Amino acid sequence: MSLTEQTATELLALQAAGKASSAEITGAFLKNIAERDGTIQAFMRVDADGAKAQAAAVDAKRKSGAKLGALAGVPIAIKDVLCTKGLTTTCSSKILENFVPPYDATVIARLKAADAVIVGKTNMDEFAMGSSTENSAYKTTRNPWDTERIPGGSSGGSAAAVAACLAPVSLGTDTGGSIRQPASLCGIVGIKPTYGRVSRYGMIAFASSLDQIGPFTHDVTDNALLMEIISGHDPHDATSIDRPVPAYTKTLNQKVEGLRIGVPKEFFGQGLDSEVEAAIRAALKEYEKQGAKLVDVSLPHSNYAVAVYYIVATAEASSNLARFDGMHYGHRTKQKADLIGTYAKSRGEGFGKEVQRRIMLGTYALSSGYKDAYYLKALKVRRLIKNDFDSAFEKCDVIMGPTAPTAAFKKGEKSDDPLSMYLSDIYTISCNLAGIAGISIPCGFTKSNLPIGLQLLSPPFDEERMLRIARMYEAATDWHTKRPK
Ligand code: GLN
Repeated sequence: MSLTEQTATELLALQAAGKASSAEITGAFLKNIAERDGTIQAFMRVDADGAKAQAAAVDAKRKSGAKLGALAGVPIAIKDVLCTKGLTTTCSSKILENFVPPYDATVIARLKAADAVIVGKTNMDEFAMGSSTENSAYKTTRNPWDTERIPGGSSGGSAAAVAACLAPVSLGTDTGGSIRQPASLCGIVGIKPTYGRVSRYGMIAFASSLDQIGPFTHDVTDNALLMEIISGHDPHDATSIDRPVPAYTKTLNQKVEGLRIGVPKEFFGQGLDSEVEAAIRAALKEYEKQGAKLVDVSLPHSNYAVAVYYIVATAEASSNLARFDGMHYGHRTKQKADLIGTYAKSRGEGFGKEVQRRIMLGTYALSSGYKDAYYLKALKVRRLIKNDFDSAFEKCDVIMGPTAPTAAFKKGEKSDDPLSMYLSDIYTISCNLAGIAGISIPCGFTKSNLPIGLQLLSPPFDEERMLRIARMYEAATDWHTKRPK
């Protein structure tokens, strides 16, 4: 296997054994980027010089005998929604085209403290609104398994970068599925941690009550490793929770005995592709083979999840994005206008169609006279969705089902139909509304060789057990070892 097909854990071991330096590893990934990213278009910006300098610094640190961080010398790609000091952070939006953050997001600071090598910033749907990266103002990322198809979104660049071996690991964000859905479509592992597990400080907010940052990796072991590094309390984020972070990698290979898997009938209804369903059923069989029991559970309010999400998320977005007005933040129009006109023109030029659509929807849902009917009602239904999970988890340890209703779709297939695009998150959205944790792991391929993802959902702050459960399946299968040609 070439260096770039290895996992982060393997790359750490190679360095520790003196078989590869970070300079060699980083060089190999930069070479892949140079050769392949013209097709894949995963990166908004590659920081080759910064990455080489950091790799050299890690190699020197190793030589000196100093203690190295947990991700020492391993390249990582970062979704362009996370602030990186000195490195443009655009949210793939024209309105932030020239934004260079003066500070690092907490997750970035933690990666740097772990001696990771940041190789660049990845493409995404503008402000993380979308499921295909087609809403990026700059480019559409391609699925490494079939470049006619999209990688999913909104963290499509980060997912494609790992799948195409342009970086061994990356970070994304998940507000309604934006880590799990692209992980599923690209055949890799992606986790949406419990709300409050990972600090959101320095993540440019989309919908603050739903947003979480999480890693993309080839396998569950790397995912556990990344989670150990980025999780934990942060005084800069009032919603981050002050509880200890388990040593996820330590317990990972301990099987969960007497495992009860909840299978919600709502996740196997109309709209689910038959090949996807077959792969999920086969994965459940594998768990049964390992002694797990399948339990029927019901999430009766999940039918409302997409509707509730598109009220709550757009309402929060309309408020969060108000700061980009050409005065306080963001692109300012060159056209002559008065104050209000300048706001309007700057925003009209700076925001793409989908972002404008969401701002309008959210503003409407919050406006006086409609707030009770839409926003407050949606919050009540959100509570019912959370209650459904609470009752389901009384009967099971984990819930399983498909991550996405179909494998990767073709570029352009859904871009003119927002509703059908919104439905690609039908199985992922309720997890964010309930604030629980979820992970997507590879569980097979369609006949046309497109990856399929199995979704695991767990009670809040139960990532340690969820990762172990994910690992049980992974240890018995080899989907996670496949790489696209
Ligand atoms: N696809 C969903 C949306 O468009 C979710 C996006 C996300 O999780 N950031 O809002």
